[in-house]
Amino acid sequence: MALTSINPATGEIIREFRAWSDDEVFETVEKVYKAGSAWRQTSFSQRSQLVLEMSTVLRHQKEDLARMISQEMGKPIHESRAEVEKCARLCDYYKEHAKAFLDNQSIKSDAGKSYIRFDPLGVILAVMPWNFPFWQVFRFAIPTLMAGNTVLLKHASNATWCSLSIEGLFAKAGFPEDIFRSLLIGSGAVSEVIRDKRVAGVTLTGSSNAGRAIAQTAGASLKKTVLELGGSDPFIVLADADIDHAVEDAVTSRMINAGQSCVAAKRFILEKTIADKFLDGFKRKMEALLVGDPLADSTRVGPMARMDLRDGLDQQVQKSIALGAKALTGGGPIDGPGTFYQPTILVDVKPGMPAYDEELFGPVAVVIVVDNVDEAIAKANETDYGLGASIWTANLKLAEALAVRIEAGAVFINGFVKSDPRLPFGGIKDSGYGRELSIYGIREFVNIKTVWVK
Ligand code: NAP
Repeated sequence: MALTSINPATGEIIREFRAWSDDEVFETVEKVYKAGSAWRQTSFSQRSQLVLEMSTVLRHQKEDLARMISQEMGKPIHESRAEVEKCARLCDYYKEHAKAFLDNQSIKSDAGKSYIRFDPLGVILAVMPWNFPFWQVFRFAIPTLMAGNTVLLKHASNATWCSLSIEGLFAKAGFPEDIFRSLLIGSGAVSEVIRDKRVAGVTLTGSSNAGRAIAQTAGASLKKTVLELGGSDPFIVLADADIDHAVEDAVTSRMINAGQSCVAAKRFILEKTIADKFLDGFKRKMEALLVGDPLADSTRVGPMARMDLRDGLDQQVQKSIALGAKALTGGGPIDGPGTFYQPTILVDVKPGMPAYDEELFGPVAVVIVVDNVDEAIAKANETDYGLGASIWTANLKLAEALAVRIEAGAVFINGFVKSDPRLPFGGIKDSGYGRELSIYGIREFVNIKTVWVK
């Protein structure tokens, strides 16, 4: 079996990699397991030095790495550069804070002395998606390594070039051998790795279906999991909102990465008194977006990452239209080579349509018009997902009260949903469980150990 990287802008094969045999996989598992014994003994200051070096290497190679990302999965080059820079910032953040996050914690009890240690668990397997092929890996791997674990990466099959390049960056930054290794395997080979006794935990960023499969296997082996899954984030615009600002951010939040972001505005829930004004501006700005070559600086929207993903999105759109939805703009693939899709706004969307019930992972905005605030919150929560949400209003007191009622891992008020190393990131419901980033992320794959001394 081959793992193939296809440039989604042209349809050309750019790289092909042979998938590994079981022997190759488990020899690597053994190496990463063995490397853990020395790594867990290193000090925070030694690990911090390496993480600092990693941020330097990332910044130094930013342009080359960005070009690789854009060629392998189609992201506009300015977004790829920003992704690499964000990884470097994450390194800076954990270099600065990891020790304080994992220092022993003294607790008063019936002991002469009692405290909590945060010890590493061991080898952690990361199953990762292609959409932010660097960021998703770094935001898990850096805190996990800082905590003294070692890492096996099974990247998306269409992101193997990025996967091997990230492995190379760890070597270049001076990390000890086999602390971080890529496994060249398809999804069918993941279960056996999870079941391996040397693997202590697994994290997945990906679809809810993959989450269910991985949690089932890990559960049967009683292994810790973190699941960062899909989302269908509401973007709620109330009657008193600053509409120009909301429209500007609506376009960014929906269209970043050609709409292929887990945390992103997907359902636009508009109070009816401002719906026309909002849609007027939204349509104009969506139609003005420059769709094209991801390597061109001026491009704002690139192709979708794979043809099967574009086909799947189009089926959701066409089925919704057949059931009564209307495309205010766009509504189909763009002819020609590559996997481009028109920036699309769907209105008259109702329950029972894929556009209402499912996540749309591409450049398609779904509009739902409501009569009042209570209906807006009810609609916002009428989804299987619970990753992020944003609320737009001049009434901050009301917005904070509404944030309590929203079923999501994050609520942004007068700003669009995003991740930030300083803030915990993750979801509830079908968006998964566990958290990445901040103090919470670094404490996911640790043994929270009580020490009680008489
Ligand atoms: P996907 O199909 O679930 O793939 C993600 C990763 O999981 C890939 O490495 C894939 O391997 C692997 N995988 C798929 N099925 C598996 C299975 N049954 N067992 C083991 N591994 C399996 O996800 P996608 O469609 O490419 O990515 C889009 C989805 O990810 C969306 O739902 C999006 O919202 C979600 N996502 C969530 C976050 C977040 O932070 N919450 C971030 C990004 C994306 P192969 O490539 O070899 O199939």
